[in-house]
Amino acid sequence: MKQPLSSKGSRMSSSLQNRQIQKTVFLDRDGVINKDSKAYIKNWSEFTFLPKSLLAIKKLTRHHFHSYLITNQSIINRKMVPLKTLDKIHANMMAEVRSAGGRIDDIFFCPHVPEDQCHCRKPKPGLILSAQRKYRIDLSRASMIGDSAKDIECAKQSGCGFALLVKTGNYTEAAQILSDKGIVPDYVARDLYDAANWIIDNVNL
Ligand SMILES: [Mg+2]
Repeated sequence: MKQPLSSKGSRMSSSLQNRQIQKTVFLDRDGVINKDSKAYIKNWSEFTFLPKSLLAIKKLTRHHFHSYLITNQSIINRKMVPLKTLDKIHANMMAEVRSAGGRIDDIFFCPHVPEDQCHCRKPKPGLILSAQRKYRIDLSRASMIGDSAKDIECAKQSGCGFALLVKTGNYTEAAQILSDKGIVPDYVARDLYDAANWIIDNVNL
């Protein structure tokens, strides 16, 4: 079976093994944290944070939410970018998040293309389920924030309690696809900052 990749090893600390993390937010990357590009984000110079996205992650962190990146990165199996370049992009992103006062706890990405028939490419739930197993997350109280229909579908398929659609990326297309499928996000947010505020105000933990 083709497995999703995590940026960290699979060993958990004993404290993590003995408790359930309750305050959890899953974040899509492109179109949520940074500007998306039809040509893909192939190096750090093409990565541009969306306005207030760093502030949003800082606010979630200050409110004791654990954030996990959940992202399809088919550029790997399309052979457009080597894994070490994606790792470098993510290392730089994490450094910027940290220096802004926020924290992303871990990164789960799917390197596959649709033809790989993996279990982790969103809208399939594999990435979220991997995070759930690794960190013993109570998905019923977890939120997923994305800009595409596949993010919302992934949240629903994995049993996430809350699915939030932001307007900063693929919103127009996403809204149409979701409407056609009869899938309703729990909240439609202007941007990641608005989504973070909604979670802080509405998800009782
Ligand atoms: Mg996206």
